Amino acid sequence: MISTNFNSPSLYPSTIPNQPPQSLSHNSSITSLFQTCKSMKHLKQIHAQMLRTQLINHNFALSQLLSFCCTHREGDMAYAHLVFDQISEPDLFIWNTMITGHSRRNSPKAAFSLYIEMLHKSIPPDRYTFPSILKSLNYEWALKFGREIHAQVLKFGHGSDTYVLNSLIHVYTLCGRTTRARQLFDRFPERDVVSWNSMISGYIKRKQFREAVDLFLEMERDNARPNSVTVVSALSACAKLKDLSIGKRIHNYIKLSDIKTNLIIENALIDMYASCGCMDIAHDLFDGMNNRDIISWTSMVVGYANLGLIDQARKLFDQMAERDSISWTAMIDGCIRSNRFKEALEIFREMQVSKIRPDEYTMVSVLTACSHLGALEVGEWIRVYIERENIRTDVFVGNALIDMYSKCGNIDRAMEIFREMKKRDKFTWTSMIMGLGVHGHAQEALNLFRKMQRAGVRPDEITFIGLLCACTHAGMIEKGKELFSLMEKRYQISPNVVHYGCMVDLLGKMGHLKEAQELIETMPMKPNSKIWGTLLGACRVHKDIEIAEKAGRELVDLDPQNNAAYVLLSNLYASCNRWEEVRKLRSMMSEKGIKKEPGCSLIEINGVVHEFFAGDNTHPQSKKIYLKLEEMVVKSKPAGYIPDTSEVLLDIGEEERQSALLRHSEKLAIAFGLIGSKPKATIRIVKNLRMCGDCHSLAKFISKIYEREVIVRDKTRFHHFRAGSCSCMDYW
Ligand code: ZN
Ligand code: ZN
Repeated sequence: MISTNFNSPSLYPSTIPNQPPQSLSHNSSITSLFQTCKSMKHLKQIHAQMLRTQLINHNFALSQLLSFCCTHREGDMAYAHLVFDQISEPDLFIWNTMITGHSRRNSPKAAFSLYIEMLHKSIPPDRYTFPSILKSLNYEWALKFGREIHAQVLKFGHGSDTYVLNSLIHVYTLCGRTTRARQLFDRFPERDVVSWNSMISGYIKRKQFREAVDLFLEMERDNARPNSVTVVSALSACAKLKDLSIGKRIHNYIKLSDIKTNLIIENALIDMYASCGCMDIAHDLFDGMNNRDIISWTSMVVGYANLGLIDQARKLFDQMAERDSISWTAMIDGCIRSNRFKEALEIFREMQVSKIRPDEYTMVSVLTACSHLGALEVGEWIRVYIERENIRTDVFVGNALIDMYSKCGNIDRAMEIFREMKKRDKFTWTSMIMGLGVHGHAQEALNLFRKMQRAGVRPDEITFIGLLCACTHAGMIEKGKELFSLMEKRYQISPNVVHYGCMVDLLGKMGHLKEAQELIETMPMKPNSKIWGTLLGACRVHKDIEIAEKAGRELVDLDPQNNAAYVLLSNLYASCNRWEEVRKLRSMMSEKGIKKEPGCSLIEINGVVHEFFAGDNTHPQSKKIYLKLEEMVVKSKPAGYIPDTSEVLLDIGEEERQSALLRHSEKLAIAFGLIGSKPKATIRIVKNLRMCGDCHSLAKFISKIYEREVIVRDKTRFHHFRAGSCSCMDYW
């Protein structure tokens, strides 16, 4: 995240070397005259004096005058041209000065036309002319004219001049032709440290970090002596590669060499150690620093945040005198990494109060937090904010928006964003297919896949997960099988354990339990607990005790602490009224100390995310919520709602079981949604576990009686409850 300016200790000399003196004492007095000059106003006075004293006819004095206009911070290129056009026979030094002036102002066109004019006047360029022109090039010009200038260099006999060759390396890497640069570099008759630095920083600019590090190592073998620029570049490459061993080697080299450490080197070291996750060493270095800047602090915060050590990160973050969008975004990211999504949004609010402008990385992080929380209002607000603040939106912001809308249950908005995007990559298509899949729009997902193929975008393994998931929703067994074989045949993507899981889900849903079991037993990799869990879930729906027991055993074997196995199996026994087995399982669970993961539901009201646990009465409006819940049940019963206690894993009487059931977190969240939102508004809930059968059934009645759409995202899919039925068709 942290960019270091590698160009600083310059690859080029900052001033043009002095030309041979005309008359030493005379020249030195002219030089001192210009040394005191600080502004164009002052320069114009000197110029007037030169006109009076005939000094204007001396090339040396003229070159000093031009040098100020061209290279001084206060200089004026237009004025330089006025003077230049009056010179009848400018010498090479003057031409070079003019070219350098344009080069410093990044105007390759002007530098070029001067160069051509100079050739017309039959003045051959020297070793200082080329680096000036080369330095003026931007990406497009480098791409277009890099080779031509190279040819000119050879033509004028500077093909073995290291100083000239170094700037050619810079130009070739600038336009992405690192291979060409490297060929040139390898043929250098002589290399200096600038040559190595140019090549290494060229690799880094093109994100070829491994090559950069390798070249650094070659430098050691070549007995070339890296300087401070080299080590900073090499450390940054190690940070990107998370290559601790070479990073340490560079650190060691710095200690043994005569390189004087400075803030830039110390920051590079901290960044390297922090990126490699060595926060102890990074912290020691940080503590030992005499002065620190925002980069030092930010590296530390980013390091801790990336490891999910958000409290340590926060401690440093709070001590920072100034913070930029990188440090804020790192904090938000860190919260996401440690599943503290609500906190991520709180930090974003703090960031806004602090008036630091978020960038596109911040936006993507915040959108990710919204996706997890189902915080559609905040997500929508972010979209408006991005538009209003003109934050750069590229593909990856668009992708994050699609993901947010589809995970927050608004698949139509996701589709709109998708349509509006001018550029799409494979992630865009895949996110959209995935979204359509989990929302049960199988046909649309398949249509989109066809368009993706037509657009020439190559699907990846995630795309196929989305497709298979879509087939499962629609119960399209044949289509699913077709896709499953297509991925290997046409795209050479071998199905992984997740793809097999999708197929098991699809077969299981349609009641092909035997076939599903056979698929698991013949798959090329070891089935994981999730696959057996999927089969077990299917057995629960289709009430197949025999296969369920087999799946349950495998599941417990693979993952003895996984409560899901016990819960699923006991749900199944319970639904067949085999209470003896339920009791056995329950005592097994308590023997092994397995606890049920507490159910938790989130609902966002007016941009605030509220969290409910099962049996929760900590909410300020708790009393009202429970009253509402009672009302919901009372109103639903005449319509046909019968509390289904079969899934309650408690060895208790029927009445108690009913009240435990009533306190499920999603019921509390729905009740709160009815109280807290406007009439007819859609209620959106995110649940961490699979929704139980009773909550599912009650939600259907609620959607009809209260005329509300209820959208629940549970651990595996979306349930859209509308007018008394659910989009999952009661299979989940
Ligand atoms: Zn429930
Ligand atoms: Zn459903």
